[in-house]
Amino acid sequence: MLRLPRFKYLRPKTAREAARMAADAGNRAMFVAGGTDLFPKLKRRQFEVDAVIGLDFLGRAIHEGSDGTAVDAGVTLASATASEHLNAAFSGYAQAAGLVSSPPLRNAGTIGGNLCVDTRCNYYDMTYEWRKAAGFCLKKDGDICLVAPSSPRCWAVSSSDTAPMAIALGGLVTLQGPDGERELPVAALYQDDGIDYMAKQPHEVVTSLRLPASNGTRTAYVKLRRRGSIDFPIAGAAVAIELDGDVVTGCRIVLSAVASHPLEALAAEEFLKGKRIDKDTLQEAAEIAAKPAKPLDNADLSHFWRKRMVRVVVEQALEEATINGGSSRVKLLGQ
Ligand SMILES: Cc1cc2nc3c(=O)[nH]c(=O)nc-3n(C[C@H](O)[C@H](O)[C@H](O)COP(=O)(O)OP(=O)(O)OC[C@H]3O[C@@H](n4cnc5c(N)ncnc54)[C@H](O)[C@@H]3O)c2cc1C
Ligand code: SF4
Repeated sequence: MLRLPRFKYLRPKTAREAARMAADAGNRAMFVAGGTDLFPKLKRRQFEVDAVIGLDFLGRAIHEGSDGTAVDAGVTLASATASEHLNAAFSGYAQAAGLVSSPPLRNAGTIGGNLCVDTRCNYYDMTYEWRKAAGFCLKKDGDICLVAPSSPRCWAVSSSDTAPMAIALGGLVTLQGPDGERELPVAALYQDDGIDYMAKQPHEVVTSLRLPASNGTRTAYVKLRRRGSIDFPIAGAAVAIELDGDVVTGCRIVLSAVASHPLEALAAEEFLKGKRIDKDTLQEAAEIAAKPAKPLDNADLSHFWRKRMVRVVVEQALEEATINGGSSRVKLLGQ
């Protein structure tokens, strides 16, 4: 049985106090919200820390306003999935939250933790003994990438289900640091690096996610995974689209699990703007959207197949949001 290492558990009362504690501890402390990603990784010695800083002071409410909705970072994935308001106004987001992992983990896992969840790789998400036997890699304890040995960087995969949808919806996060608060677009929270995948300071606490008013935006999230539950995405597409009749007036398409950050399909978005929706147009847009996705051989199933499936998940998400929809829905492959 894998056991947690010894660490101090710190219980700040506010986000500012938590940020101060983290700044003082340098890289020897980490935040914990639901613990559904952090604790298994501590057991596998993927992280080594002296202290864990509890975030149980975080709000757990969803605030509806005329200019949008603020979701406290402590809201669990289960509450987000069940929220009538999120289902009515941002149903793609509510349903992406409902596709994370499994019911017990959604009862504990938070929307803040899901935005910050670690990148994944078959050579890294293993026990300490497995990694030692295989040879450690750049992301932890080693000095080479086992997937792309000639590469100077890590290609671990961004695997959050809700981050792509939050970006597609133009979401903003509030970050609390030791000396103040700032708000930035969710897209700016990430960078294309499997190790330093977050662009925020490590000591900043995500306290809230703001989703601007949706104004009839149609959304859909399509997730591809081996099983109907538990598994992380191996490809996914989040779509938020505005229509005037059947003409696209605005569109965002964000891919999950094909890069070290949620990957926005900018060329496909441009292609769709001003176009009349029909099956051929959506197919062409999906072809364009899939081009920048370059999955490597470090996640479940063959990366050649995953690459081919990116076009498919984008097309399905576009169809769900437009031709099939009217209201947003989520389609899960393999069920
Ligand atoms: C078997 C299994 C299957 C899973 N499947 C999926 C899946 O399909 N899709 C998916 O997206 N995830 C999946 N996960 C990962 C995880 O359960 C979710 O991402 C969950 O939302 C993480 O939230 P948490 O509150 O438990 O985060 P924690 O585990 O507490 O923290 C995760 C990371 O975020 C940091 N963090 C947490 N909250 C904050 C905050 N407010 N501010 C700053 N940093 C913070 C922590 O320091 C840590 O680095 C899976 C995990 C397991 C074990
Ligand atoms: S992509 Fe390479 S460096 Fe990154 S976790 Fe995988 S094997 Fe390690």
